[in-house]
Amino acid sequence: MTRNNFIKLSSLAGISLAVFPHLSFTCFSEEFSRNQLLGKGNADIVGNSYTSKMHKLTKEAFDKMKAEAAKENIKIEVISAYRGFQRQKEIFERKYKSFTSQGLSPENALEKIIEYSTIPGTSRHHWGTDLDIIDANARRPTDVLLPENFHGNGAFCKLKMWLDDNSEKFGFFEAYTDNGHRKGFKYEPWHFSYAPVSIPMLESYQKNIDVKKMLSEEKILGSENFSEEFINRYINENILDINPALLP
Ligand SMILES: [Zn+2]
Repeated sequence: MTRNNFIKLSSLAGISLAVFPHLSFTCFSEEFSRNQLLGKGNADIVGNSYTSKMHKLTKEAFDKMKAEAAKENIKIEVISAYRGFQRQKEIFERKYKSFTSQGLSPENALEKIIEYSTIPGTSRHHWGTDLDIIDANARRPTDVLLPENFHGNGAFCKLKMWLDDNSEKFGFFEAYTDNGHRKGFKYEPWHFSYAPVSIPMLESYQKNIDVKKMLSEEKILGSENFSEEFINRYINENILDINPALLP
């Protein structure tokens, strides 16, 4: 084992012990390729649809969590799992076109997009570690991904309470928490991340991806309006101001 590998394995073991003291997770250690980090191809992704494609280790853990929730009559349904670069680009550009054609300035359109949507190449859904989930046994609201569905009299309150008590045991953590001091993406009580893989992926992303350079190389509609200030703020707030449990 090279010294480099040893350091990586030790730091991962440290994470596992700190976050999951009573459980043993597969220690995941590999260098991620640029394509894996940007959602442009990943041999570790299993599944065949946008609701079932995920990293193989995410899938193993998710299946266990789903089975456990089923015992409480909760049917966890995935609304969105792995999403590649191209798909994120389509979503981003559709919103950009729609907002600017409604009369928003490019700058205001970008601010509105990044309330909930990512810039292609920066989505946690590119990694196959992050899932948007609901309860298929609950009555189905017209818009499923709204915070109010998970609170008060919302349809997914039972799921929300169960996840609060149980998801971390399976390695899943809410990424965009309901913390008034958190900046970046708005509160998403449906978005969970499989920490044993997503923490090392974020670490690798920070080390290997120059976001400013990547965004200047990709041909994304509206990217001529990505100012230096906008990108720096996006990195600090949207990419990094997440649940601290998911930080490397
Ligand atoms: Zn999501």
